[in-house]
Amino acid sequence: MECKLCNESNELELSHIIPKFVYKWIKRTSTTGGIRNSDNPNIRAQDGDKIDFLCGKCEDLFSVYEDGFRKKGFQKLQETN
Ligand SMILES: [Zn+2]
Repeated sequence: MECKLCNESNELELSHIIPKFVYKWIKRTSTTGGIRNSDNPNIRAQDGDKIDFLCGKCEDLFSVYEDGFRKKGFQKLQETN
């Protein structure tokens, strides 16, 4: 399959649509202690939805920026609230 970032044909990795750290925060701050999927609302979702999206190289590249945002943006935002 074709990577959505570099457009090269590579084996793709399952990428979280919502970053894992955001998903954990949503679960932690949820009044019900969990997240439910609109397709099956009676069952709590264990993890965020993942899709074949990026190749391993791009996933690693992207994760650097995602981690930077988590440390420099997301966590600081949590500390101020
Ligand atoms: Zn790629």
